[in-house]
Amino acid sequence: MSDQKFATNALHAGHDVTANGGTRAVPIYQSTAYVFNDSDHAANLFSLAEFGNIYTRINNPTNDILEQRLAALEGGIASVVCSSGTGAINTALLVLLKAGDHIVASNSLYGGTYNLFSVTLPRLGITTTFVDPSDASNFGKAVQENTRAFFVESLGNPKLDVLDLKAISKEAQAAEVPFIVDNTVASPALLNPIEHGANIVIHSLTKYINGNGTALGGAIIDAGTFNWANGKFPEFTEPSPGYHGLVYHDALGPAAFIAKVRIEGLRDHGACLSPFNAFQIIQGLETLEVRMKKHSENALALAKWLEGRDEVTWVNYPGLDSSKYKQLSDEYLPNGQSSILTFGVNGGFESSKKIADETKIFSLLANIGDTKSLIIHPASTTHQQLDDAQQESTGVTKDLIRLSVGLENLEDLKADLESAFATLD
Ligand SMILES: *Cc1c(COP(=O)(O)O)cnc(C)c1O
Repeated sequence: MSDQKFATNALHAGHDVTANGGTRAVPIYQSTAYVFNDSDHAANLFSLAEFGNIYTRINNPTNDILEQRLAALEGGIASVVCSSGTGAINTALLVLLKAGDHIVASNSLYGGTYNLFSVTLPRLGITTTFVDPSDASNFGKAVQENTRAFFVESLGNPKLDVLDLKAISKEAQAAEVPFIVDNTVASPALLNPIEHGANIVIHSLTKYINGNGTALGGAIIDAGTFNWANGKFPEFTEPSPGYHGLVYHDALGPAAFIAKVRIEGLRDHGACLSPFNAFQIIQGLETLEVRMKKHSENALALAKWLEGRDEVTWVNYPGLDSSKYKQLSDEYLPNGQSSILTFGVNGGFESSKKIADETKIFSLLANIGDTKSLIIHPASTTHQQLDDAQQESTGVTKDLIRLSVGLENLEDLKADLESAFATLD
């Protein structure tokens, strides 16, 4: 499949029609466990002498098709799907890190991830230094002797900063740590971080990949390019007490990490995806490329229209000529810049809050990447717990309104915002 193009892989990769009873749609294998031929067969499966299904927390044939498809679309060697994007981030990090380890992360992360890194992981002894990602050398400068990962979002949510992934990946290579990129906002249809040096890619499948707002899910995709035998990751080069003394690097080579994610990460942390949700997510994934094109066209057109409005004080969309990320956007996102844009209006906090309350087609809710248009005023809702300095560093100013522009008719979207603006006078 690998030499076929994106749209073809999005519809076909991973699905062997013959092996799946001739089903043209990917079937839902709603089974918790799988019958062993005999006890020797079971013993072989558990010892990895033979690959096969054991229990749906570890593997499932519907999830397997989604995993193969995502790996093909991101250019990875394999992937593991999880219960949510957050579940994917946690599972990946808990397989990699232990108490005493350190992460260098971009300071413009999704609010939930920021909280995980700044509050919850420190309780487990894993600390993070947040850096301004607009200068890649900040990552190298923050490296400590115990640093074991770099973590960024390719297109920050909601700051919409386009990161220079190539430059940051060089810093990660010099530090000999894996470069983990959350690619949720760009989606694989617009950007493939592995082409720019990412070692591990994360997705919240909940957003664009599902697209219909019907199922949560997450994914960890392994590029298979990181050298786990560089001395910093003994869990991969010494016998694992968690898996019959298996030496992951020796037994699995480039697949050491993603194998450990499945057989220890899913087994021990349990953030597995329901096969029903995998089915829902596959329906969305099939049309990802056409949706991302339309999302991007609608968002760019709306951003330009907003720039011309008297009520609007500023507009941030990476595809705009006025964006300070325009150059990076031309390099990393030439086929579209996704559906999120932010803007401010005269009157600041109160006016912005009112607009979010007054739109009718734009739904007021905490999600992105839906086919339907969404709106939120983060300073009064999702980001109200951040102090002023944190709001500033995450890019959430008091007047910021975030739109996730859907696939509705553009003129209807403009009319909806126009009637919300009219309530400000
Ligand atoms: C939503 C989101 C997440 C978390 O995903 P869930 O599926 O909601 O757990 C992580 N990263 C980014 C960039 C997101 O937008």
